[in-house]
Amino acid sequence: MKTSFDVIVIGAGIMGASIAAALVESGLDVALMEKGIAGAQGATRDTGGIVRGLELDAALRPLTRRGSLYGNPGIVHALYESALNRSGVAYIASAEVCGQYLEAVDSEGCEGIELHASVDALDNGRFSPFCAGECLLIERKGGTVDARVTVSNLCRYVSEKATYLDHLAVDRCVELDGHVQVHAGKLCLEATWVVDACGASGPLPRPSNAVHARTIPFTRFGCDQAPSMPIVAHHLNTYLLPLGRNLVQVGGQRRQRAEHADQLNLAPLDNEQDVMDRVSRLGYDRHHSLPVVTQVGWDAYTEDGRPLIGRSSAKSHVFIATGFCGIGFKMAPNVAELLAFELGGLMSGVSMDAAYRSVMEAFRPSRFAEVVLS
Ligand SMILES: Cc1cc2nc3c(=O)[nH]c(=O)nc-3n(C[C@H](O)[C@H](O)[C@H](O)COP(=O)(O)OP(=O)(O)OC[C@H]3O[C@@H](n4cnc5c(N)ncnc54)[C@H](O)[C@@H]3O)c2cc1C
Repeated sequence: MKTSFDVIVIGAGIMGASIAAALVESGLDVALMEKGIAGAQGATRDTGGIVRGLELDAALRPLTRRGSLYGNPGIVHALYESALNRSGVAYIASAEVCGQYLEAVDSEGCEGIELHASVDALDNGRFSPFCAGECLLIERKGGTVDARVTVSNLCRYVSEKATYLDHLAVDRCVELDGHVQVHAGKLCLEATWVVDACGASGPLPRPSNAVHARTIPFTRFGCDQAPSMPIVAHHLNTYLLPLGRNLVQVGGQRRQRAEHADQLNLAPLDNEQDVMDRVSRLGYDRHHSLPVVTQVGWDAYTEDGRPLIGRSSAKSHVFIATGFCGIGFKMAPNVAELLAFELGGLMSGVSMDAAYRSVMEAFRPSRFAEVVLS
């Protein structure tokens, strides 16, 4: 069996699967390792799959922008597009928040953005009586991507052209001079570079106090008519995701945190009550809306709301790609493209230009305390 690679990616959630596929496409010799079933263990299992380019934090916009950063869309963008339901995404928000979103349009040139002074233009005005004073933004190019189909297609691409090992948990990594040993049970693989894409539950050390796990509860309820597109309801601090003609998923706000995902308390708390209270303020009255199920997912969070992408310390051969704070699904194609660019450059001795470094500065893991792996 082949045991030596250019890059080993650990974790086949949406991020690891996307990064591995982009690295394979760029010509590197890659192994992708997953402790369970791809996309079925961590945050990706429960993702809503909403993809949208508008983003309030300007530093995140290169990650959330729709389409390729460097002109060549590549396999990951292509697979996202093929699994995209182009419904559009609506934002219900105050004029002030809409103005902040529109800065993204100025700086990133997001196409297909419509601004409306009221919510009348959404679903024949059905939200108008409940959202007086709110504005409406519609991002026509946004929508939802089928996460299961996408992860599965990404892993198939990797397994056909490189190496994909599932049901194999990585126990630890040991950094030696210029390469890294990856231990998984009896197996010891090695690579010049390793990417830790293990979300909120990885086995590798990370900068101290950099990443924690946080629950993301959601409730699904049946109703007369689901909205025609996902709605980011700023004024209610939640989202509504149509799952069918009569089924809607809504994010709950009663959250818990822990150092690792396996220490989280996954009790639903009073999220169902909280969600039903919120959606009643959008006109889903209790007589015609039935809560069906409340689930508690989780993701990896950082204190500053920005992910960790880059070397775990200045000289380390381990890259970290985690801390996606509940919005990592939409970022995966661009994160994959950026890391394929950087790791491809490192393998061929090309250093990154100033523009690249300035984009990545905000995500440097060493903005938190550095780690020593071995
Ligand atoms: C309810 C919910 C709704 C969401 N909705 C959206 C949305 O609409 N849009 C959006 O952009 N984002 C959304 N998100 C956020 C998004 O889903 C996450 O940010 C994203 O899935 C993170 O992906 P990841 O690959 O980094 O982590 P994960 O999906 O957690 O993947 C990590 C992988 O690493 C593997 N792993 C861990 N340890 C090991 C080991 N020792 N060896 C090998 N493998 C290991 C795990 O098994 C797992 O498969 C949502 C999240 C939740 C929970």
